[in-house]
Amino acid sequence: MTATHGRIRLIEDRCTSCMICARECPVWCISIDAHTEPDPASEASRRPRLHNVLDRFAIDWSVCMYCGICVDECPFDALEWNGEHVSPGASLPDLVHQRDRLAPDPGGRPTA
Ligand code: SF4
Ligand code: SF4
Repeated sequence: MTATHGRIRLIEDRCTSCMICARECPVWCISIDAHTEPDPASEASRRPRLHNVLDRFAIDWSVCMYCGICVDECPFDALEWNGEHVSPGASLPDLVHQRDRLAPDPGGRPTA
């Protein structure tokens, strides 16, 4: 388990919407919506494939235990700890961070 506890950030271009993090989270505080689209890379093949497109990814920090299971279980390293702590919210809905607030800071770079 990762030692640093802070915010978790989502590196969207690594996320395949596989839902593993949401399923493994012990308190169900990750919400993911996605849909499938034809994979352009397979259009010319006999059996075109589909790929997932992420529509919504949210973490409810009012419930999160900072256990790191989601970070550890993501097969694509799409989740990682950010050293910053979650700011207190004015209300419980404020503590539900959508994908824009989970993204790396502008100019920030994911590790590795
Ligand atoms: S750190 Fe733990 S509780 Fe928080 S979102 Fe990840 S799996 Fe869920
Ligand atoms: S486990 Fe990783 S790749 Fe799968 S939905 Fe969660 S963040 Fe995305």
